[in-house]
Amino acid sequence: MKTHDITLIPGDGVGPEVTEATKRVLEATGVKFRWDIVDVGSYAMEKHGTPLPAFVIESIKKNKIALKGPVTTPVGSGFRSVNVAIRKELELYACLRPCKYYPGTPTRYKDIDLVIVRENLEDLYAGIEFEKGTSDTTDLIEFIAGKKAGSILPDSGISIKAISAFRSSRIVKFAFDYARTYKRKKVTAIHKANIMKFSDGLFLSCAREVAKNYPDIAFEDRIVDSMTMQLVQKPQLFDVLVAPNLYGDILSDLCAGLVGGLGVAPGANLSDTMAVFEATHGSAPKYTGMNKVNPMAMMLSGVLMLRHLGEDQAAEKVDKAIASVIAEGKYVTYDFKPEAPEKAVGTSQVADAIIARIC
Ligand code: NAD
Repeated sequence: MKTHDITLIPGDGVGPEVTEATKRVLEATGVKFRWDIVDVGSYAMEKHGTPLPAFVIESIKKNKIALKGPVTTPVGSGFRSVNVAIRKELELYACLRPCKYYPGTPTRYKDIDLVIVRENLEDLYAGIEFEKGTSDTTDLIEFIAGKKAGSILPDSGISIKAISAFRSSRIVKFAFDYARTYKRKKVTAIHKANIMKFSDGLFLSCAREVAKNYPDIAFEDRIVDSMTMQLVQKPQLFDVLVAPNLYGDILSDLCAGLVGGLGVAPGANLSDTMAVFEATHGSAPKYTGMNKVNPMAMMLSGVLMLRHLGEDQAAEKVDKAIASVIAEGKYVTYDFKPEAPEKAVGTSQVADAIIARIC
């Protein structure tokens, strides 16, 4: 049996707890892993003087696959997002976020099974920013005024939204290929092309071009604001959603909310050669070390990893075990016991219950 070499990044906050629970569950399937465990964020800062040491990137490049816990990004000051840096450094251009309803989940909606494909590298998330009051910002404001492109108040901060044809076509192609592989029927492109004609408009025209190569899969587009309303009113109508970075980020949380919250929202960041699997949720610092949060989002990210590794039977086993624990409703965390939080169990007890159903 093959042993899979995986870079394991526990992260910080609740990261180490949910990754440990996930590691135990994945190992219970009988699949063999060799974990290269590496620190990032504040732990790496203390030990190595940088939140993202070069050996972390080297490890992922060597293994091609990582399982990653969430990492805290200091607000306002301190180091920039390690999460964004890893995605950029490895050109992980596609963020995949499945949102599936598991019977027994306390939520308003049922029968939802949709997938968000989010462009991961450009748009307003690229971090190209000009701070209020700096000379560069003043120069930029004057340049824009000189081009008669519009007037910007002098006390403005500026974030640049750039959307390229190359990355738009690539992410839409990824969404269609995913749809084809997993026998999905429809791809919906999300944009605000009516207002941002040169950025979102370009994304939409690229999407329309790519769609022509996939006559077997339906294609439609939606303006992002209308999309949020339709997702709340009739989410069952949607299948695969593809979006530029910022809309994809916002819609991911909205859709996570539809199926039970961040506790069950998995994700993957992918390039054509590498993959980093991580939950949608962050490090939930207030729950650090409390054995409290739901590890299922991380475990479902592990399911995505198993599928990526070709370990489909193991993936199916974990998915079914999670579904069974949710359906029974006994060994679930506080987010799944809104009416009786005192009856909730902790992170590691959820792992125990899932492992008992796998073995
Ligand atoms: P968060 O997702 O960490 O937590 C928000 C709230 O959601 C929590 O307080 C908790 O009530 C709930 N929640 C989150 N995960 C849960 C789980 N597994 N089970 C049950 N409830 C859960 O979002 P935040 O507070 O905005 O961010 C905290 C930190 O995490 C920030 O520094 C942020 O930058 C970082 N972050 C990291 C990642 C990543 O590493 N990929 C993603 C998002 C946010």
